[in-house]
Amino acid sequence: MDIISHTLTGIAVGTVFAPISNGNWKQKSSIILIGGLGGALPDFDAISLWSKFDTTIGSFLGLENTGHQIYFGKFWYSHHAAFHSLLAPLILVFISLLFSSLVRKQHLFDIANQFSKKRFAISAFVIGFLFHLFEDMPTPSSVWGGVNLFFPSDNYIGGFGNIWWWNNYDLVLIIVSVLSVNLIINVIPRLHRKIKIKASISVFVFGLVLGIIQIKTRPTDFSYSGHNVDFQKLEKESKLIQKEILGESLFHIMESIDNKIPLNF
Ligand SMILES: [Zn+2]
Repeated sequence: MDIISHTLTGIAVGTVFAPISNGNWKQKSSIILIGGLGGALPDFDAISLWSKFDTTIGSFLGLENTGHQIYFGKFWYSHHAAFHSLLAPLILVFISLLFSSLVRKQHLFDIANQFSKKRFAISAFVIGFLFHLFEDMPTPSSVWGGVNLFFPSDNYIGGFGNIWWWNNYDLVLIIVSVLSVNLIINVIPRLHRKIKIKASISVFVFGLVLGIIQIKTRPTDFSYSGHNVDFQKLEKESKLIQKEILGESLFHIMESIDNKIPLNF
């Protein structure tokens, strides 16, 4: 799935944890943004596909393989590998807590205290991160065969081919609707916090069920393994499905937004 959908999903996760936190608007905003960061971060492993990777990071680290080989490979730092695992967000949280304790010149056991203080932002980050992994599973197998969910095990899970890599406009619209409604719920004045929590969880779960139904009911099987695929044909097929789901006018609005964004979406 594309990085924009992943980031928006993380933001939507943040909108659920914001009312739970009962913080001020600054704390709530940072929880929402950290959720978005969690949603985006697993694809940091796509950096090996960057055109200058070999001449910069690759040569600095003295890597034997090219960025292209790494990206499509099965190294722990390849795409869909360690960064797409359950362990990755936990290690990242631990490193950031350790780093913030050291910066504040506090004792190492302050990590537990930091964890307790930031538990809602951490939860938004971890759940946003995990949603990214689940969202990648219904995409085609290609060379990876899913995501390395239980790294360091070398088992890959997913690659089901229910959806195409990107232009899943229906899913983007569901995610944007969930986060928009939840943002509105968050800012309604004098609405009891418990109602805000229940409403935002319900909206999120409703969106999740709707998203799963959309993923499971695509009329085309997008699965393929390796590089053996008529990419153009499946890409076209995926857009055609979107046109049927959304109707001509909404599809064209989404397509024109897509064309303006310099990322696959
Ligand atoms: Zn990913």
